[in-house]
Amino acid sequence: VDDFSLSANSITGESTLVYQDVARQVQKTKGIRIINFGIGQPDFPTFARIREAAKKSLDEGFTGYTSAYGIDELRQKIAEHLSSKYESVRKEEVIVTPGAKTALYLAFLLYINPGDEVIIFDPSFYSYAEVVKMLGGVPVYVKMKFNESTGFSLNLSELESKINKKTKMIVLNNPHNPTGMVFDPIEIEKLMEITKEKKVLLLSDEIYDYFIYEGKMKSVLEDPDWRDYVIYVNGFSKTFSMTGWRLGYVVAKEKVIKKMAEIAANIYTCPTSFAQKGALAAFESFDEVKEMISLFKKRRDIMYEELKKIKGIQVHKSQGAFYMFPFIGEILKKANLTVKDFSLKLIEEKGVTTIPGEVFPLEVGKDFVRLSFAVREDDIREGIKRMKEFIDMLM
Ligand code: PLP
Repeated sequence: VDDFSLSANSITGESTLVYQDVARQVQKTKGIRIINFGIGQPDFPTFARIREAAKKSLDEGFTGYTSAYGIDELRQKIAEHLSSKYESVRKEEVIVTPGAKTALYLAFLLYINPGDEVIIFDPSFYSYAEVVKMLGGVPVYVKMKFNESTGFSLNLSELESKINKKTKMIVLNNPHNPTGMVFDPIEIEKLMEITKEKKVLLLSDEIYDYFIYEGKMKSVLEDPDWRDYVIYVNGFSKTFSMTGWRLGYVVAKEKVIKKMAEIAANIYTCPTSFAQKGALAAFESFDEVKEMISLFKKRRDIMYEELKKIKGIQVHKSQGAFYMFPFIGEILKKANLTVKDFSLKLIEEKGVTTIPGEVFPLEVGKDFVRLSFAVREDDIREGIKRMKEFIDMLM
């Protein structure tokens, strides 16, 4: 039973969930009330309309398998919704999946052969590289550039230099976890041009597309030629506070979606039936989404102002998602700590959970910590106050 597969053993990175476990332990043994900046989900229950729709469908007995593609009405709604914002998308170009993570998994599984290279920005959401490695692919990292006033940029010249015959795919996440960047539309356009010109695939994870506080986001679905090179991923987890429902989707040309459905039918059959009925009602819940986003904007402002007061921290005000990603390199150097030590000690001594940047997943994050502002205002103030005390103690 100990003889795991190469795929299983290829997982070496650390998920953000580890730090939640440490916090639970600290709360239990030390009795400190935890302030959780480590969380990757909105702090609200799913909106009532969505819950009611799912409950109704359960009571009506909608509890069997659905099509591997997901229910037709939901695919139709997703297609209509995207078509109203971007270039047209047809129902046949959508597959509903158990969460965006499964959507990403299907995308990688469909294309990655052992030895294929996948370009991933550093920092990035941790699971892209892990899944690529699991499939025998090779993550090739492009280091994003940080500047306190302008934030992170994609570093497209480095990206271009890393594309070769083995490059199969580029992974983009916009708005971006963990940095909170909404990338400059001109930069995204350039990336799209490079991808087309070099004939590689662009996997675009736009799961935070509603979490935008400033500026405009450029979606890859704005390109009339998207079918030629785009695999688009989105989901219900963040926008509608539905993380536990496990619902996401892929948009790609019909032939790609068909192949994904064949794989889905053999791995998980279909997404959960009644959860899909709930998701239908999500499309009537954009007023609630808007309210949530304006609350998040306020929280972002508070977190930014409070972080700025801490000596040694350099912070760029995030424009999207619900994360702040301050640079703490000088503090780490003075205190002779790695960022992992920093995060662990901060939980142990002050009960404040952050995620060390090197979880995302390589080098650039080694001098940064990720803080989520999907947290109540008074807890944001209290948590940053405790963090300041901790840093004062270190310096
Ligand atoms: N993509 C990004 C960038 C994320 O941050 C997350 C969740 O943290 C996911 C995908 C996964 O979303 P889901 O809950 O739909 O699987």
